[in-house]
Amino acid sequence: MIDFAYDVLPGRVVFGPASRDQVSAEISRLGCSRALVLSTPGYSAKAKDLAYKIGQLAAGTFSGAVMHTPVSVSEEAVKAARSVNADCLVSVGGGSTIGLGKAVALRTDLPQIVLPTTYAGSEMTPILGETVGGKKSTQRTVKVLPEVVIYDPELTLTLPADVSVTSGINAVAHAVEALYAKDRNPVVSLMAAESIRRFVRSLPRILADPRDLSARSDALHGAWLAGTSLGAVGMSLHHKLCHVLGGSFNLAHAETHTVVLPHAIAYNEPAEPELMGLLAELVGAKSPSTGFYELIGRLGAKRSLRELGMPETGIEKAVSEATQNPYWNPRELDRELIRELIRRAWAGEPPLVR
Ligand code: NAD
Repeated sequence: MIDFAYDVLPGRVVFGPASRDQVSAEISRLGCSRALVLSTPGYSAKAKDLAYKIGQLAAGTFSGAVMHTPVSVSEEAVKAARSVNADCLVSVGGGSTIGLGKAVALRTDLPQIVLPTTYAGSEMTPILGETVGGKKSTQRTVKVLPEVVIYDPELTLTLPADVSVTSGINAVAHAVEALYAKDRNPVVSLMAAESIRRFVRSLPRILADPRDLSARSDALHGAWLAGTSLGAVGMSLHHKLCHVLGGSFNLAHAETHTVVLPHAIAYNEPAEPELMGLLAELVGAKSPSTGFYELIGRLGAKRSLRELGMPETGIEKAVSEATQNPYWNPRELDRELIRELIRRAWAGEPPLVR
């Protein structure tokens, strides 16, 4: 028996191949007529194509989204929105573009339509991380939650196979931590488990053929469920470690999640035997931590923080930061065990359950 409280977040989801063709209808449905289309510089040609398709309902494009949502870029985007008199935002891209849309929505109250092109899951969360002067701070407010999310798996066909793998494991990490979250609830647990199942079966297919639309659809479905889980319940040790490592050593977001996940699972294995049994079943292994470590190896992703560029001398700093103001975790943090966890993740050694 468990007790729980569950705040269900509002939002409309449209899912399916070619669903990007419904952007105009969704703009009108919101009562809007002047959309500003947001993207990264690398995705600007596709954002312009989308604006062209939207036609008269597009007021302009802003293609300056970059990683970590720097406030200076958000302010520029707000100016761009005001200069074209935009009455809504259309964000097409991964977590960086979606973060920019959220930051503009926070400052302008403009409604957002989001077309995710990776599996990071930000579109389903009321969370915004912003950077000022190199320092990242995170806030949770429904003001940044997108009104409409359009999941078109065709938009993910161009995501390179290696990026798809790490982006998918980033989503799996949200789902894994949702399973053992302090404020877990039965509905979110169902979504989280289903998300993991979908990624475990679809990522090998995407690696074999990145243009496999049915595998892409399966994975994007998993991303929706993982993002919803991330938005609904609190995260633990794994996310804390990734924030510390990403922030302190400027490591790539999804790749860091991919290296750390098996080790964070191993740390929590003794505390949650029943859930770990479910996780083992989902990954098709006796031990969930070893199962994920091996899956990540088979998918060809990097398994060491060293390969991501973290210096060995950074281990001590990471241990200190990870154990200061920790997030709630199913198992209390033991400094020595956390040091060993980070050392193993740095060296790329298999996870150890102790
Ligand atoms: P990203 O948005 O930075 O995209 C990575 C690169 O891939 C970019 O250059 C982008 O242009 C390109 N790209 C994206 N989709 C593509 C596609 N389909 N085809 C070809 N190229 C494509 O990376 P990300 O991993 O999606 O997002 C990471 C960011 O999102 C981090 O800053 C992270 O903190 C944030 N995030 C926030 C939340 C939240 O809830 N607030 C959740 C998850 C991630």
